[in-house]
Amino acid sequence: MTVYNLGSINADHVYAVPHLPAPGETLAATGYSIGLGGKGANQSVAAAKAGARVLHIGAVGPEGLWAREALAGYGVDVSHVARGTEATGHAIINVDPAAENAIVLYSGANQTLGAAAIGAALAGAGPGDTLMLQNETSVQVIAAQMAAAKGMRVIYSAAPFDLGAVKAVLPHVGLLVMNEIEAGMMRDGLGGLPAVDVIVTKGARGAEWISVGAEPLFVPSFKVLPVDTTGAGDCFIGTLAAALDAGLDRAGGMRRAAAAAAIQVTRKGAAQAMPSASEVDAFLQ
Ligand code: ADP
Repeated sequence: MTVYNLGSINADHVYAVPHLPAPGETLAATGYSIGLGGKGANQSVAAAKAGARVLHIGAVGPEGLWAREALAGYGVDVSHVARGTEATGHAIINVDPAAENAIVLYSGANQTLGAAAIGAALAGAGPGDTLMLQNETSVQVIAAQMAAAKGMRVIYSAAPFDLGAVKAVLPHVGLLVMNEIEAGMMRDGLGGLPAVDVIVTKGARGAEWISVGAEPLFVPSFKVLPVDTTGAGDCFIGTLAAALDAGLDRAGGMRRAAAAAAIQVTRKGAAQAMPSASEVDAFLQ
């Protein structure tokens, strides 16, 4: 089946700086790199590398064709990644020698999608297909609604956390995935967890799948020496979506997702650090 992903595509501009800039200061960077980022793009790459057929629904600006190409290079279907006039979403990331960072995020083209684009992208979708979504684009509610009406599996990452967005999307969601911080904000905002399947990821400590009317399922994390945990949650979710799409059960899917994320945190970067299915197979042997 197909994993559709309504998700952000960002250009991550990373500057190495001697210290984080002060107000009014002009600061020379000592290094610069640009790479593909955004929670949506990261999750698409993770799911594609895990072996799923992935169709990304998103948008880039006139100068963002390279990001679309980068996504395609990972095996993601980008035929529904629109090219508009609004600038590609991007992050300006300053990193000081102590690895402390300060980030400016501009969502740009990610906020320009409309209902018609979602309808066109999901035209061929049906029961057994999956829709993934996060909180970095427009029209999540419409997309989740359409997918649920088609009988698709709807997997929602409530990140970046926004209570209003979560409340609106939730009625159409089958599986909600959050890290511990987001789950805490959800409990504070809603007075508890909602009555849908919920996965709470807990970094090095593991992940728990909480189902209504069933025993919670806990999967410990694998012991590794992390180098860079950026995108760990995206790796977990993308891999899990691919595993469920391939027919694995909850426990099998969570184990593969934990293994993929354990490999991912031992490498620098987000999208570029996502492991392939064969790397996960080898890790689990
Ligand atoms: P997020 O990146 O969204 O904050 P988490 O930090 O909970 O999410 O990480 C998601 C998953 O990645 C965890 O459930 C775990 O499987 C894996 N993971 C994250 N950090 C580590 C780590 N230090 N060692 C092993 N696995 C990790």
